Formats: sequence, structure tokens, C-alpha cells
Amino acid sequence: MRDRFVITIDGPAGSGKSTIAKLLEERDGFLHIDTGAIYRVIGYIFNGSPNKNDILNLRFSIRKKDRIKIFWQKRDIEEFIRTEKCGMLASNAAKIEFVRDFVNDLARKIADTGKFVIDGRDCGSVIFPDAQLKIFLAADIDERARRRAKDDNVSIDDIKKDIEKRDYQDKNRSTAPLIKPKDAYEIDTTKLSIEGVYKSVKKLLEERYENNNS
Ligand code: C5P
Repeated sequence: MRDRFVITIDGPAGSGKSTIAKLLEERDGFLHIDTGAIYRVIGYIFNGSPNKNDILNLRFSIRKKDRIKIFWQKRDIEEFIRTEKCGMLASNAAKIEFVRDFVNDLARKIADTGKFVIDGRDCGSVIFPDAQLKIFLAADIDERARRRAKDDNVSIDDIKKDIEKRDYQDKNRSTAPLIKPKDAYEIDTTKLSIEGVYKSVKKLLEERYENNNS
């Protein structure tokens, strides 16, 4: 095996990226780098519009044991960042090029040696164009809204509008827009169970892992 094996999972909000990445972490020993969470933290701290100095002075501490945890000012702010409002603040911050440079450098620094699964919008296209396995998850907007409404306990109609707005912004920004990387395998998760999606990814992984080791 090479020193590093990277799986990238990209796709729009609610397509199932984090769920599958977490399963690959729990079951297959891949450390999960959640780039959306890093954008969310930045969006939360700077209300969606950091300036260059904010980013230059930003220090995260990273604990990398059984799982990766990122702390800001020694605080774990995970519980504040999962709202759809914070998702939009993250999306606003994610349009800014120096913010993207910061997140890309951080992700590459974390994924030095070992097995990683990284999820977001540009992981296979920009952060790790040389990843060994690239997945792109898609799903109907109604299904994605249903999943998010269930997780966040809000109405499907409200969350649907928010997700559509955020997807539009993520797909149409000038820097590193959400795209399906050319060499990614697309899985439509609309009608699949979580186990069904995991199984498809695992099959691709086994093929790639074997190729990589032979
Ligand atoms: O994945 P999540 O919904 O947590 O991401 C929040 C936002 O962060 C996205 O809507 C997107 O604007 C931004 N993001 C990004 N590039 C990534 C990951 C997330 O632009 N690689």
C-alpha cells in the first residue's frame, strides 16, 4: 500500500456524504475529514464574511486519534454549526478564494499518511485530484429536503427552499464550484438505503484497494 489512501466524496447538501464517510471511518478505519464542518466553523465565527487577516490569524488545533476533531480557541463548537442558517454562512464564506486556500491547506496537512475519507464539494476536483477513489453522491431535491427536515426537525418546504438556494450558490460560484469530478463514480442515493449506498462504495473500494496493492 502507498503511504496514503484517499477517498473523496462530493455532492450537494443532504446527498448522504457525511453518513457514508462516517461508516467508512467506523467500519473500515478511514479517518474522516469533514471539509463542510471547517467552512461552517469559519462561517459561524466570522458571520459568513471573514477578511484576509481573520483567516491569516486563524488557528485551529487538531486532534487526530480515532477520529479527527478540530478546536477553535480550545473550544469544540460542533454543536453550534449544524443549522441550515450556519450552512448558508459557510456557503458565503466558501465563495472567498483565500478562505478556500486556507481550508485546502488544512485538509492536505491533516491527510499526511494513512487512510482518509474526505467529503465536501471540491474534494475530488481541487483538494485531492489524485485521490485513489472518487465518489459523487446525488439525490432528488425532495428526498434531500426530507432527510434534512428529519435531522433538523423543521418543515420540508422551508428546508427545501434553503437547500436549493445554497446549492445554487455552491454550483455557480467562480472558485471551485460544486461539480462532479471527471473520474468520479456517481451514485444516486434517492431510492437507496444507507446500507445500499455503503455497499456500492465498499465494492468500488475493494476493487481500488486491490489494484493499489498489486
Ligand atoms: O457539507 P456542508 O453542508 O456541511 O457544507 C457547508 C457549506 O460549505 C457548503 O454549502 C459549501 O458552500 C461549503 N463547502 C465548500 N467546499 C467544500 C465543503 C463545503 O464550498 N469542500
